[in-house]
Amino acid sequence: MEKLTWWQTLGSGGSEISKINEAADEINALADQAGDLRKKIRRLFELDRDQGRALEEVKITVEVLIAALARAGVLDVDQLTHDVRTEIEARFAPPPRPGGPGGPYRQGPAPAPPPERKVLCLECECEVPISQTYVTAHGEICDRCYVLKTSA
Ligand SMILES: [Zn+2]
Repeated sequence: MEKLTWWQTLGSGGSEISKINEAADEINALADQAGDLRKKIRRLFELDRDQGRALEEVKITVEVLIAALARAGVLDVDQLTHDVRTEIEARFAPPPRPGGPGGPYRQGPAPAPPPERKVLCLECECEVPISQTYVTAHGEICDRCYVLKTSA
């Protein structure tokens, strides 16, 4: 970006001109950085392509070697395929989660489940675990009171 010259700044205040010229400097610096980034990205793509080619060459070499060994009767291709798959799966298996079953962000074992919620029985007003209650139209009553009520 071009900076303002003295004749473009006629009628403007001095501080505005310097701010505009500072902005022009920043824009020019950003444009330079963008150019550097473009070069780096292009280089990364070149490296990626070269690595892909190198990997393909290794793959072809291994295939040719396996075929030659199989022809010579030195190698059981099925067994080799099985062994290679097993080894690859073992090496690329995800590592055990740190901290055990509690999850990656927790240390130690998983936390105990929260205690069961307790409720007050409508009949006897005892505090009982919610799993030991019956829900009625008026609220929860305990198993004991339910039995007493239904057998009466
Ligand atoms: Zn009760």
